[in-house]
Amino acid sequence: MKTKLIFITGGVVSSLGKGIAAASIGAILESRGLKATIVKLDPYINVDPGTMSPFQHGEVFVTEDGYEADLDLGHYERYTNIITSRKNNFTTGQIYHSVIMKERRGEYLGKTVQVIPHITDQIKENIYQAAEGNDVALIEIGGTVGDIESLPFLEAIRQIGHELKGNQTLFIHLTLVPWIPAAEELKTKPTQHSVTKLREIGIQPDILLCRTDRDLTDDIRKKIALFTNVTYDAVIQAIDVDCVYEVPLRFHDEGLDGKIVELLQLWTKRSNLQVWADIVHSYKNPKDSVNIGVVGKYVELRDSYKSLHEALTHAGTALNLKVNIEYIDSEAVMANNDEKAWENCDGILIPGGFGERGVAGKIETIRFARENKIPYFGICLGLQVAIIEYARNVLGLKEANTTEIDKFAKDNIIDLMAEQKNITDMGASMRLGAYPAKLLPGSKIAEIYGSTEISERHRHRYEVNNKYVPLLEEKGMVISGKNPEHDLVETIEIKDHPWFIGVQYHPEFKSKPTKPHPLFYGFVDASYKFKLKKK
Ligand code: GLN
Repeated sequence: MKTKLIFITGGVVSSLGKGIAAASIGAILESRGLKATIVKLDPYINVDPGTMSPFQHGEVFVTEDGYEADLDLGHYERYTNIITSRKNNFTTGQIYHSVIMKERRGEYLGKTVQVIPHITDQIKENIYQAAEGNDVALIEIGGTVGDIESLPFLEAIRQIGHELKGNQTLFIHLTLVPWIPAAEELKTKPTQHSVTKLREIGIQPDILLCRTDRDLTDDIRKKIALFTNVTYDAVIQAIDVDCVYEVPLRFHDEGLDGKIVELLQLWTKRSNLQVWADIVHSYKNPKDSVNIGVVGKYVELRDSYKSLHEALTHAGTALNLKVNIEYIDSEAVMANNDEKAWENCDGILIPGGFGERGVAGKIETIRFARENKIPYFGICLGLQVAIIEYARNVLGLKEANTTEIDKFAKDNIIDLMAEQKNITDMGASMRLGAYPAKLLPGSKIAEIYGSTEISERHRHRYEVNNKYVPLLEEKGMVISGKNPEHDLVETIEIKDHPWFIGVQYHPEFKSKPTKPHPLFYGFVDASYKFKLKKK
């Protein structure tokens, strides 16, 4: 194994931004010319993160190979050139599942199957597999040190540290150094305790990332170093920032990447973080702002639209605009039945979603955007509902619906494909991951992409019913993109509307600050133009 392994653990409290820290380290190491990968180990028992509620767990991030992953993989892809896959994320549930399957097949030859070595061996195997072929692999351990759940993961990485000698591994621990107002002091005790806990299980961190809301003094750094047995120059301040893309810059200022390559004895070129500096500069100095209304049902939990939120921000920084994202609850839209909800929107976006809740409000929202020529961007369910709205209000098919909501809809304009219907009893499978689409030459979307051949990530069950395509086209809807293999509708637009686009896939998963997605760029640009015209 030639790959150097960097393990990232967290202490004191959750939500310190371990995912963003890992992604940022990935970004700096890539800028030094290293080939990196990042892996997330999730301590929960769920075998399939895709089935977890976005209310509890935030967004489900979809990889190219169609794996439904923890949202941290989204951070990894946004900060780096890594294209993640199912290898980059595994849960305790998956580990146990593999071990139990092996036991059932008799592979353990009747031995007693135990946490150590069987579970820990499986964890190590998965880590090595994911790390293979890279200069460095960052392994983020979910949860907080001291949790019962993450113990087997910590034991496995301790063993790796023991087995791979000679600057092959590095342990980074993220902790909190809180400011206590009553004492007017930054406190190091939680960090001391957290590191003690790690050392109890045999892991001595090499580097500490100390999350703080103000600068750490020299004295504090020395004290932390002394009590945790970490060298002074490896006590790295991780200060709160206004823009998440500032983290790689701050880490670099603190000498973090220099320390990492020194400890791992990696010979690299110097890092160049100018692109990140430019992004942050544009983010902090916008020339103007634009208001985007996002109408959905999970609006209470912003994390459930993480990639979407970021994709809008990427377009904003590229256009030097501040994007004010207003999350509008589609159920409230209907309940209050007022158009005020959309009054301030320069553009309206309906993201992906499942189930019936809030769909009526979405239909009204789309009608409003279509009739008032407000830029509209429909993603997945946002495309499906746009077609239902068009069918009902333009084609006059009052009962048009998706069979997701009404199984016996008279006009099943959104429906399962024939072959899916045969397997509904087992739960019709979703179209997941990357699929190609061919765009109509001369269409708005082909112009936006600057290409007629694209590939985007999917996560849905239902499709546009091709039976209705001729009628839709006759009445001014352009079917601008299709999946060539299965002849499925991928993208739509409306002829006499300045910007009305729906896509069956999720473009937000492929947007990065360094490479904003063309559709988000086009949408935010059109919304800003709409705002200027309104004035
Ligand atoms: N619920 C719809 C479907 O399954 C849309 C899914 C989505 O928006 N991701 O087809």
